[in-house]
Amino acid sequence: MASRERVVLIGGGLTTARAAESLRQSGFDGEVVVLAEERRLPYERPPLSKGYLTGADAAGVVYPHDAAWYRANDIDVRRGVRAAALDTSAHTVTTAGADAADETLRYDRLLLATGSSPRRFTGPGAGLRGVHTLRRLPDSTRLRTAFRSGDRRVVVVGGGWIGLETAAAARGYGNDVTVLARGEVPLASAIGPELGAMFLGLHEEHGVDMRMGTGVASLTGEGGRVTGVVLGTGEEIPADLVLFGIGATPNTELAASAGLTVDDGIVTDAGFRTSADDVFAAGDVANSWNPRLGHWLRVEHWANALNGGQLVGRAIAGERVVYDDIPYFFTDQYDLGMEYSGYGELAADAEVVVRGDLAGRECIAFWLADERVVAGMNVNVWDVNEAVQRLIRSERVVSREELADPGVPLDALAGDAT
Ligand SMILES: Cc1cc2nc3c(=O)[nH]c(=O)nc-3n(C[C@H](O)[C@H](O)[C@H](O)COP(=O)(O)OP(=O)(O)OC[C@H]3O[C@@H](n4cnc5c(N)ncnc54)[C@H](O)[C@@H]3O)c2cc1C
Repeated sequence: MASRERVVLIGGGLTTARAAESLRQSGFDGEVVVLAEERRLPYERPPLSKGYLTGADAAGVVYPHDAAWYRANDIDVRRGVRAAALDTSAHTVTTAGADAADETLRYDRLLLATGSSPRRFTGPGAGLRGVHTLRRLPDSTRLRTAFRSGDRRVVVVGGGWIGLETAAAARGYGNDVTVLARGEVPLASAIGPELGAMFLGLHEEHGVDMRMGTGVASLTGEGGRVTGVVLGTGEEIPADLVLFGIGATPNTELAASAGLTVDDGIVTDAGFRTSADDVFAAGDVANSWNPRLGHWLRVEHWANALNGGQLVGRAIAGERVVYDDIPYFFTDQYDLGMEYSGYGELAADAEVVVRGDLAGRECIAFWLADERVVAGMNVNVWDVNEAVQRLIRSERVVSREELADPGVPLDALAGDAT
């Protein structure tokens, strides 16, 4: 009797959770094995710097599916098991885990969704207690426990999304918070100086000491615990806790050692296929061909794991797919919520047009290049992001007057684009 086909999904994030789901929805009835290095079911990370960290949500919110769902769908999730070696010619993967014996599994098709890891500070003092990064659930639990006392001096290094969200959470508990960041305003490389300035003002109003244009030279400590951050200028900022939010790098080691093409992520075509037969990659780790931009694009956002994960499951089930979603992300900080859709690189030199009240932080910002919208961001305005995406996709010529006028419906500007 022929053995059942086997798909192996490597990774314990949202990408594998969604791929497993869509494999079954696509009618795939072979074996599905998930190898997840962390000792938990696949989970999503946005709550780690938002609701879970602020204390609003319990840890359970991070799981798209519970254990009963995986059982009911006949998906074998092996927690605490790392894929240690991949042999693409033999179609095998060898595991390593603390609790289970190492095993070599045959696969028919395989997904690499190994995600990314936070960049770490490597200068003097890096190994002191009280120095954190934020990627995994236990990282967030440690921060949340420390923040709860409300009397800590917290220094956040990095003015990106994770740094700012963590700063907001720490302030929410009443801690004393300083953010150290490069440039004149935070987030300038992601959303430009005008909108970056809005986030600068937001944090200053909430009592965060925003130190722009600063870099860290070293950390000081006493008895093995961090006590301060020394800036490039020599100034020392006292600290009980330091969080480094200085970006992430894709986990490509397994793919690279198997000889797959890797270049800032695992290189794939627009249908998630890597350079090895029957091996797919998606989520943070994939650098996928983007038909709209005409080059490869690696996206480190939740929606890319959500929708890319869903689509790669269909691809693994045998469907020909093309992934061309417009990059989308969101943030929640204090009472500000926002969503952004668009192509950052096209927006870099574009004109910003605002509809609504930027100073009051209730608006939609559009990035207009060659009279076309290439990105849009709604701030404390809801149920418009799909229309913003339609507008981007339509590539229609629009005027700045129409964009700025709240009386002109966005759908009318997008025409009948879907
Ligand atoms: C704190 C935080 C907040 C965020 N907030 C937002 C947000 O508000 N909006 C937004 O758009 N995006 C946000 N993101 C980004 C988003 O979470 C990521 O884009 C998403 O997690 C990517 O999912 P993934 O499945 O590709 O990878 P990951 O979530 O990184 O999961 C990869 C998993 O694979 C495991 N793994 C790695 N190597 C192996 C191996 N060899 N064998 C087995 N398992 C392995 C890892 O341990 C990990 O569990 C946030 C990220 C973080 C860390």
